[in-house]
Amino acid sequence: MRPMISSHESVRARLPSVDAVLRTPRVTALIEHYGRPATTDVTRSVLATLRQQLTDAPETPNDTDAIADAMEAILEAQMAPGLRPVFNLTGTVLHTNLGRAPLPEAALEAIARTARGASNLEFDLKTGRRGDRDAIVEDRLCRLTGGEAATIVNNNAAAVMLLLNSLANRKEVPVSRGELVEIGGAFRIPDIMARSGAKLVEVGTTNRTHLKDYQAAVGPRTGLLMKVHTSNYEIQGFTAEVPEGDLAALAHKHELPMAVDLGSGALTDMTAFGLPHERTPMETLADGADLVTFSGDKLLGGPQAGLIVGKAELIQRLKRNPLKRAIRCDKMTLAALDTVLTFYENPERLAEEVPSIRLLSRTQDDIRTQAQSVANALRPILAGRVDIDVVDCKSQIGSGALPVDSLPSAALALIPVLSGRKSVGGALKRLATDMRRLAMPVIGRIEDDRLLLDLRCLDDVAAFIRQFRELSG
Ligand SMILES: *Cc1c(COP(=O)(O)O)cnc(C)c1O
Repeated sequence: MRPMISSHESVRARLPSVDAVLRTPRVTALIEHYGRPATTDVTRSVLATLRQQLTDAPETPNDTDAIADAMEAILEAQMAPGLRPVFNLTGTVLHTNLGRAPLPEAALEAIARTARGASNLEFDLKTGRRGDRDAIVEDRLCRLTGGEAATIVNNNAAAVMLLLNSLANRKEVPVSRGELVEIGGAFRIPDIMARSGAKLVEVGTTNRTHLKDYQAAVGPRTGLLMKVHTSNYEIQGFTAEVPEGDLAALAHKHELPMAVDLGSGALTDMTAFGLPHERTPMETLADGADLVTFSGDKLLGGPQAGLIVGKAELIQRLKRNPLKRAIRCDKMTLAALDTVLTFYENPERLAEEVPSIRLLSRTQDDIRTQAQSVANALRPILAGRVDIDVVDCKSQIGSGALPVDSLPSAALALIPVLSGRKSVGGALKRLATDMRRLAMPVIGRIEDDRLLLDLRCLDDVAAFIRQFRELSG
């Protein structure tokens, strides 16, 4: 044991103390910038690491500059923002993992304006009394959907939860077996129902559900009838589902409410933008549904939110539920939502004003032309390392909206130039990793031995090319 102890001691003798490090000019500057507590912690951890390294490899550099370099790298990484902008070139426009809908500039301004100071969030400026935060967007939302009243919560999952808990706690809710959906992550209709206190009664079969199936399931313990939009899959072939109007009529015959979880409610006719038709809350309510729920950040193109619109008496019951207080949304969300909804009051300008709709309605020709010019700019920069082709591809709307329809688009196909006996798969993975390490990470998708960068969502072409230039320079 003795030789080891003496080697530890000799290593210790070669390292400065924490205090001595903190007094060096470069580390004094780090304290100034990052604060004393963080800098002191990092000094300790860098010295501990160095002690180990010197034991293993006595020639490791241990001068004060080497120590300050190591500290600076750690502090810089620690203080970097956790949430960073990325280039979404996955081809999925409303990508849940990449933050879904990009917001219009005007919505960002509204967020900043509202967040900077006090606002009439829950204050009625006419009466001087306490107000309702839903009122900020309620009238607008009712005009746009034909509903009598509306309430806004954190997201659509919360909206469904609030609706079920308010109207069907400890009651039965018949749902078609064809509509027991799972939306990416943890939103599964059966689980949400169980948590809400409602008892799911499965009716019909996976491919076919008839009105008589619902009729047989309705009884004294039924709380409401519900339809769930199968937003991320489609059942094809020998199928049957009950139209919303028929289900609403059945519900009303039994004096029950009828609710529809639309998922990605498009607030306007998407065919006007060359997109497939998606059912709107307006159509759903007109067909007899009493309540409809949908997301703010899917096809609507706004901030994350859950919107519930419909009969005033039912909305009142939702607003009175204490759960509403727990899942209400923030003033910044309401500011952004309010702004985005104003654009829907003038649908002619929607594609100009709402970025997600603009991106979704870009033509393949437009994207292909952009791809060719970006490819021309990148080829000399990446020559010898990556070959670049321009290829046609298909984008997706994402977030479960219109799952089977994909949009013709164009992509850069990056093919790593292989050196030696390296595998294509390994080289592609490394290339994808390098792309994620860029100052503004680039996220694409690997397909057919190429890294595809679908340019549908590329807005800032100059910034995109610039960072490759910096990389190679
Ligand atoms: C997306 C979706 C949800 C969940 O909405 P979030 O806003 O992501 O919480 C619920 N139901 C359906 C049908 C959906 O498509």
